[in-house]
Amino acid sequence: MAKDLYEVLGVSKNATEDEIKKAFRRRARELHPDVNKAADAEDQFKELNEAYDVLSDPGKRAQYDRFGTVPGAAGGGSPYGGGYVDFEDLFGGGFGMGDIFSSFFGGGGARQAQRREGRDMGVGLRVTLEEVAAGAKKEIVYDRLAPCPDCDGTGLGPDGREVTCPECGGQGRVVTVQHTFLGDMQSATTCKKCGGTGRSVENPCPECEGQGRVPDRQRVTVEVPVGIRDSQQLRLSGFGEAGLQGAAPGDLIVTVRVQPHEFFERDGDSLHARANVSIVQATLGAEIEIDGIFEDEKVQVRIPEGCQNEQVVRVKGHGMPKFRSDARGDLFVHVNVVVPKKVTKKQRELLEQLAADMGEDVPDERTPLQKLRDAFQ
Ligand SMILES: [Zn+2]
Ligand SMILES: [Zn+2]
Repeated sequence: MAKDLYEVLGVSKNATEDEIKKAFRRRARELHPDVNKAADAEDQFKELNEAYDVLSDPGKRAQYDRFGTVPGAAGGGSPYGGGYVDFEDLFGGGFGMGDIFSSFFGGGGARQAQRREGRDMGVGLRVTLEEVAAGAKKEIVYDRLAPCPDCDGTGLGPDGREVTCPECGGQGRVVTVQHTFLGDMQSATTCKKCGGTGRSVENPCPECEGQGRVPDRQRVTVEVPVGIRDSQQLRLSGFGEAGLQGAAPGDLIVTVRVQPHEFFERDGDSLHARANVSIVQATLGAEIEIDGIFEDEKVQVRIPEGCQNEQVVRVKGHGMPKFRSDARGDLFVHVNVVVPKKVTKKQRELLEQLAADMGEDVPDERTPLQKLRDAFQ
């Protein structure tokens, strides 16, 4: 981290959270690639985002103040910290700071009538199988257009008021007439001044430029319900994009992504695991102990006499906890019979006796050196 993060934002070291937020928005407006055509505007915009990522998080900021650096910050790719949040716009296309700002700036390209209600937003949330078994609280950090704190989302500045748009007379559309050799052609376009709403704001709030919403980094804690399935979605009402000038906000839709586990494979409420048993345990039967999905959980597995390799032993009630229930699925233990790669002299003798008893011919295929070694064991 070469540059001083406070300098990047243009604030003093003891700036309040609010000052940092405002400085970020002000700089972001100046540097946004849609507005600023300087060659390095995009790099500066990224740098600004990284600085804001650190300074807007009290934990990271404290660490930066003490050590002058934050592990995994600048250059780490994701500006969202922690690395556990996947951004994906469920309604097509990616979602990032750039998109937030383009809707803040009213978007580029073809102008459509601006919708007043905030859009739903989608994020992915990665959780481990252990977290699904025990339930967990996870923090999601994401960027959204949030209600402007300065005007409480109204978009009105001091002495501000909403009036009929003078450009379109409240129609939201402007009709233009083109003279062509085929005659006059009329076409209606969305009013640029009011974005099709037919209303405009006199003395708009300077912080949000009359929109009633500003780009902001949001932190929200979600409760991951016990037993939730991969791809299941949680809807956080009102946590999506804020509406224009106080209109209804959208929802945040969290898609749960359960990560594959090292030992367990999940199939609905069932868990599958592998366990090694020796040839003796497989032959005579045994009681073995394996780790369960809960922390410190030990599961006793009864290996039946004459158990075959790949045989599956079912342990009732030790699978995944079921969704919205106290019950648990079953655990299926796939037995892996392990043949010893090496035996001691004593074990060899016992096995040879066993072979003789079973009428099996076992020629000694040891090299002279191995025989000599075994003899000295
Ligand atoms: Zn208008
Ligand atoms: Zn405002």
